Amino acid sequence: MKKTDTIVALATGNNIGAISVIRLSGENAINICNKIFKGVDLENTATHTVHFGKIMDENVIIDEVLVSVFKNEKSYTGQNTVEISCHGSKYICAQIIALCLTNGCRLAEAGEFTQRAFLNGKLDLSQAEAVADLIASENKSQHAIAMQQMRGGISTELQNMRTELITFASLLELELDFSEEDVEFADRNAFQNLLKNLEKSLTKLSKSFALGNAIKNGIPVAIVGKPNAGKSTLLNALLNEERAIVSEIAGTTRDVIEDVINLEGIAFRFIDTAGIRKSEDTIEKIGIEKTFEKIKLAQIILLIVDVTEPMAEIILQYKNLVKTDSQEVIIILNKIDANNICDAYDIEEALMTTLQCKALAISAKQQLHIDKLEKLLLQTANIQNNATQDVIISNARHAEAIEQTLQAIATIKKGFADKISGEFIAIDVKRALHFLGTITGQVEVDRDILGTIFGKFCIGK
Ligand code: GDP
Repeated sequence: MKKTDTIVALATGNNIGAISVIRLSGENAINICNKIFKGVDLENTATHTVHFGKIMDENVIIDEVLVSVFKNEKSYTGQNTVEISCHGSKYICAQIIALCLTNGCRLAEAGEFTQRAFLNGKLDLSQAEAVADLIASENKSQHAIAMQQMRGGISTELQNMRTELITFASLLELELDFSEEDVEFADRNAFQNLLKNLEKSLTKLSKSFALGNAIKNGIPVAIVGKPNAGKSTLLNALLNEERAIVSEIAGTTRDVIEDVINLEGIAFRFIDTAGIRKSEDTIEKIGIEKTFEKIKLAQIILLIVDVTEPMAEIILQYKNLVKTDSQEVIIILNKIDANNICDAYDIEEALMTTLQCKALAISAKQQLHIDKLEKLLLQTANIQNNATQDVIISNARHAEAIEQTLQAIATIKKGFADKISGEFIAIDVKRALHFLGTITGQVEVDRDILGTIFGKFCIGK
C-alpha cells in the first residue's frame, strides 16, 4: 500500500498571503525540485536545511524562493520532502506547481501527505486524525484536545492496554498447543483483574466522548416558542449582534438560522426557529418543517414564552413540546421588563416545582439575565471542561471502537463465568484486540475507512 511516487500541492490556503508554501513529497521530491531550482545543488544538502535561490522555467525567472529540504525518515511523511516558500501570488504558485508536474510530480489528493505519514509509521491513525482536528481548531479547548491526541495521548493509553491483552492472548494460545496436558499458563485471576482494569479505563474514555464531542462539534440548542415570544431578540442578545430579523409581524423569521457562541471553550450552536404554529403560508411552512427536523437534533431546547401570558398557557406550551428523553428543556420567561419583576420570579419558582424543569426569567430586549442563561446552558450541558488534564476522546470513530471493545470484554467475562473453553475465549480476546487496534491503525483498517478519514483533509495536508 505504500506509495513512493512524488506528489505536489499548495500547502498554504488558497487566499493570497505574503508567502505561499508548495510541498513536494516522494522518492524524487528533491531531484525534481533540483531541476527547476537555481541556487545550490539540493541533492548535496543536509536534511532540515533552507536554501535561497530561483525557480526557473527554462530562462524565465518565476520567483525568488526559499527551499526547505527534509530527507526520508526525518520528514513529516517519512519520504523525501521539499517545501518551496514563494511569494503568495496565485500565478506564481500555479506556475511552480505546473513545473513540478511537467518534471514528474503528480497532484496530491486530499490528506495524502498525512496518509503517507501514517503509512510510513510516522503517525498512528488517531494521531493522523488529530492533525485534521488541529487544523480545524478554532478555540482553546478544541486546540488542547487535538494537540493532546496528536501527541499520542490516547495512543499511549491504548497501546499499553493492547500489550497486556496480547500477552494474555499468547498465553491462552500456548495452552491450546498443550491442550492434551490440561495446563493453565494464563493466570485466570490476573486476567480477571486485567479485564476489570481495561473495562474501567475504557469506560472512562468512553464517557469522555460527551465532553470531547461537545468541544469538537458544539452543543446544538434549539430555540422554540410562539411567534413574538422573543426568539430572535434572545438570539441576538446571545450573539450580541443583529443577525436574525427582529420584527413585530408574527412569523417573520422564515429561515432556520444557525449561529454559534463560545462559553468557556464550548460552542453552543443555536438554531433559531420560525415559531411553532400551524401556518397556511407555504414559505413559512418550509421553515416550520425544518424547525421540527432541527429540534430533533438539539441537545438543549430553550422554550421561550412571553411571561405576560397566562400561566395555564405557558404550562400548555411546555406540555405540548415534542421531545426525547435525552433532551433538556429550559423554559425562558421572557419580557420581565414588561411585567412586574417579582411576579416573573414567582412564576419561575412555581414552574420549576410543578413541572420539575429549569426555568429562567429574563428580558431579551433589555439583555437582563443573559449571563444567568449562559451559566444555565453550561450547567445543563453538564460538562466539566478539563480538556487539558485527562485523555479525552473527541472522535466518533474512536468512541465506537471503544464501545465495541467494551462489548468484546463483556463477552470474555461472560465466557469465563460460563466456563467456556479457552479456544473460544481466545477468539473473543482477538476481537477485543482488533477493535482496540482499529483506533490507532495497528490492525489493517478498511480502505474505505482510510479513504473517509483522509478525504476530509484539505489538499496539501
Ligand atoms: P419571535 O417571533 O419569537 O422571534 O419574536 P421577536 O424576537 O421578533 O420579538 C417580537 C417582539 O417582542 C418584538 O417587538 C420585540 O422587540 C419584542 N420583545 C422581545 N423580547 C422582549 C423583551 O424582553 N421585552 C419586551 N418588552 N419586548 C420584547
